Amino acid sequence: MAGKRKEFLDRRDFMIASIAAVGASAAMAADAQEADGSATGETSRGTAYTGDRIDGKPVVSTLDIADLEAGKTHLLYFQGAQMPAGQHWMVSVVVAKGARPGKRMTLVSGVHGDEMSSIHTVQTVMGQLNPADMSGSVMAVLDVARPAIESMQRRWPDSSRGMDLVDMNREWPGNESGFSATSRHAGLLFNRLLRPNSDLAIDFHTGTTGFKVAAFNIGDRSLPDVRTMMDLYPVGLIWDYPADPRLLHNAFVDVGIPCFTPEVGEARVLDPEMVALFVEGTMNVLKTYGVVPGQVGRTAGDANVFVGNSAFPVIASHGGFVEHLVALDEVVKAGQKVAIQRNAFGEVVAEYASGVDGKVAGQRSDVTCEPGNPVAFILFENATPQSAESYPE
Ligand SMILES: [Zn+2]
Repeated sequence: MAGKRKEFLDRRDFMIASIAAVGASAAMAADAQEADGSATGETSRGTAYTGDRIDGKPVVSTLDIADLEAGKTHLLYFQGAQMPAGQHWMVSVVVAKGARPGKRMTLVSGVHGDEMSSIHTVQTVMGQLNPADMSGSVMAVLDVARPAIESMQRRWPDSSRGMDLVDMNREWPGNESGFSATSRHAGLLFNRLLRPNSDLAIDFHTGTTGFKVAAFNIGDRSLPDVRTMMDLYPVGLIWDYPADPRLLHNAFVDVGIPCFTPEVGEARVLDPEMVALFVEGTMNVLKTYGVVPGQVGRTAGDANVFVGNSAFPVIASHGGFVEHLVALDEVVKAGQKVAIQRNAFGEVVAEYASGVDGKVAGQRSDVTCEPGNPVAFILFENATPQSAESYPE
């Protein structure tokens, strides 16, 4: 059994090596065609240009930001997995490469396709950077789950067994030889773009369609750099918990790259006030790690942060129309009624209470609700940390 497994792996590695060799010769040809001066003459074995340009932007299938010219901002497309009809999903990448060496920070958004404030946060940070004043680099990977973004939905439409929807944030670190396009897309991104170019990383999210969240950060505060980064955001809630092992931030952590997930409010819309808090926090991180100059602004201490290690889920027992009795960020007590639910006649069919003392971190924003759906999550501190398995981060 072990022998068979090894044989399969060897064969897979051989196939990957063959593909890489073809990619390398294409890259050499593409480098020769580079006419915009972005090729520095340094060795660029780590960057493979496909030779294509889309809307004037060069396409790469592998990137080493050491190959990019210092003191400039570079706009690239990363070639992801192919679509059912054969073209590639292209992921938008911006690299602000500092004039001097330093930490390499990666900012990711769009792992879920309906989370617009996360994309806008990363775009806004990139717009504030001046590579000439920077030490190190900031790489933005903006639209990871391209097909999900095209249809403004959380999940990636997968056609392998008829149309299905796949959660891209349960796929990491992916597998370039995996049995789905999402697994392969994740593997390509992780192996050829994210992992090789990151010393630190942040994966931005929001609540999901139908479920809004307060401004908060989620990550494992026992990791010193994760704790440092999360505490630099002027937001009021931190969920000190690693969460599902298949999340992108845990794939980074597993290979020694500190990472966590900010949650920038409600899905589908832009929340400019909340975006501003996360932009300020991200700039604080870049200043603290010496990537950009300047004084750190407001931090978690200024926001009177509440740190909890658990999320208590309030789960609907009935179908019907939900009315919340408390607001996001509100302090609640164990036993306090947080929502009621009516049927179409207007009769109250259910009343929901918090089981814990804590703060309201998330609430269903669609009014209708099926049994089993989360109505709310209450962030609290527990002697034994507990996960809310259905938490839609
Ligand atoms: Zn998300």
